Amino acid sequence: MYIKKVIIEGFKSYREETSTEPFSPKVNVVVGANGSGKSNFFHAIRFVLSDMFQNLRSEDRGALLHEGAGHSVVSAFVEIIFDNSDNRIPVDKEEVRLRRTVASKKDEYYLDGKHVSKTEVMNLLESAGFSRSNPYYVVQQGKVINIHLIVPRICSDIILTIFACLDCIPYSNERF
Ligand code: ATP
Ligand code: MG
Repeated sequence: MYIKKVIIEGFKSYREETSTEPFSPKVNVVVGANGSGKSNFFHAIRFVLSDMFQNLRSEDRGALLHEGAGHSVVSAFVEIIFDNSDNRIPVDKEEVRLRRTVASKKDEYYLDGKHVSKTEVMNLLESAGFSRSNPYYVVQQGKVINIHLIVPRICSDIILTIFACLDCIPYSNERF
């Protein structure tokens, strides 16, 4: 199982629908200028996959919606399309689309276009091996140093050199 594609619309700096693909089943690194939306992109992924953003208050939801002079949005969504050819997500489909929407008053989940509850999504992700509280498959900028502590020295030096100021997704949901 790995992320094949991410579609974002109206979320933080992503006003227009933005599709990102293809992803590698191994390591994916996002590179861009300061302020170009790298952290927002990872925030969007965590918004769908982690329970860090459960039980959002109204002002939290508002902060996720794109705000801009004369073109603020009233709703947003992030959709993650997984390659599920190994059936790790127990739904018997080779491709699984998980979408979370947000508006000022509510946020909802859709699995392959069908409305589902938060609990169903969290249970499904957990049975696929995702950790609820620790989205370890996303390494944030500034946290890359942690890898240094858990991989052999020569390897970590190379990783640190490459990832020094980047965000990255280590392959699928495996730990480094
Ligand atoms: P850096 O390399 O400095 O870490 P980055 O590529 O990670 O930058 P982000 O932090 O993802 O950049 O994006 C920052 C931009 O997102 C800022 O310009 C900020 O104004 C914008 N932004 C954040 N929230 C919203 C929002 N709700 N509506 C519109 N723009 C937003
Ligand atoms: Mg950043």
